[in-house]
Amino acid sequence: AERYARPHMDQGKVATYIPELAKGDATKLGICIRTPDGEEYCQGDCQTEFSIQSISKTITLILALQTAGYDRVFSKVGMEPSGDAFNSMIRLETLTTHPMNPMINAGAIATTSCCIKGCADPFGAFLTLARTLCGRETIRLNKEVFTSEYQAGGRNRAMAYFMQSENLLEWDAEDVVELYFKMCSINVNVRDLAHYGLVLACNGKDPATGKQLVDPWICRIVKTLMMTCGMYDASGEFAVKVGLPAKSGVGGGILASAESRMGLATFAPGLDKRGNSIGGWYALEFLSQNLGLHYFSGQAAE
Ligand code: GLN
Repeated sequence: AERYARPHMDQGKVATYIPELAKGDATKLGICIRTPDGEEYCQGDCQTEFSIQSISKTITLILALQTAGYDRVFSKVGMEPSGDAFNSMIRLETLTTHPMNPMINAGAIATTSCCIKGCADPFGAFLTLARTLCGRETIRLNKEVFTSEYQAGGRNRAMAYFMQSENLLEWDAEDVVELYFKMCSINVNVRDLAHYGLVLACNGKDPATGKQLVDPWICRIVKTLMMTCGMYDASGEFAVKVGLPAKSGVGGGILASAESRMGLATFAPGLDKRGNSIGGWYALEFLSQNLGLHYFSGQAAE
C-alpha cells in the first residue's frame, strides 16, 4: 500500500489555515489495520501523532446521540451529502433551515451543541469517549493546535452565530465553537484510529474485551453518514473507488471501517483540493482492491 501511495503524494499540500498544521511533514505516511482476532499490521509512520481534526466529527456525533438522542440531534442537523466544501456556509441561508449533515463544519458545530446540556464537563466526556474508542488512555488535547484554531476561527464562529440566530444551537455560540475547536485538537496516531475503526466494524463492540462501547444503532448511523458524507465533496468518488465508510481530517488522517473484518487508518499530511489526504486515499484504494473490502464487491453473493 505504501509503495502504491507514495508516488502520488507530491501532489498534496499540507493545510496552512493555522500555523500549527502548516508544520506538518508531507513526506510522512502511516498505515494501520487492526482485525477482530487481535492482529495488527502497520506500515510507515504508525506512532507519529497528528491532529484528529474533522475525524472528531464522528466521535462528536456518537456523543451527541448518546447525550441528546436521535430526535433532538436530527432536529438540528440533516442527513444529506452537501456536495460543498467542508467549511462552506452557503446552504445555511439559501437551501435548508439546518446544516446538511454532521460531517461538515456547520453540521458538526450543531451536533457539538447537543453534547452540552445536562453534561457537567462536555470536553471531558468527549475525551473519555475518544480514549475508549481508540483504546489508548494517554490521548490528550494539543493546546497549541487548540489555541491556533481558536484564534483563526472566524469562519466557524460566523456559522455558529448564524445558526444561533436560527435557533439551531442548544447552547451559546461562543461556548459551542470553543468546544468544537477542542474536539478537533486532540492528537491521535493511526493505531488509535484503526482501533476505533475496528470498534465501528464490530458494531460498537471491542473484540478484545467483548465490551459493548457504543450502541449498534448509533454505529449504524455514524457509518452510514461516513459512507455518504465522510470525505466531504469527494464522498461519492471515494464510495465508488474505495467503498468503505471513512472520515478524513485536514490533519492528514483518514479513518475507515470494513464491516466485521477490520479497522483501517492512514496518515499523510499532503491534502488534495477538497481537503482529503492524498497518500491516505491511494493507500485505502489499494487495500480495498487487494483485500476485497469494497462494500459492494459482490462477495456476499458469491
Ligand atoms: N478544525 C477544522 C476546521 O474547523 C476542521 C476541518 C477539517 O478537518 N476538515 O476548519
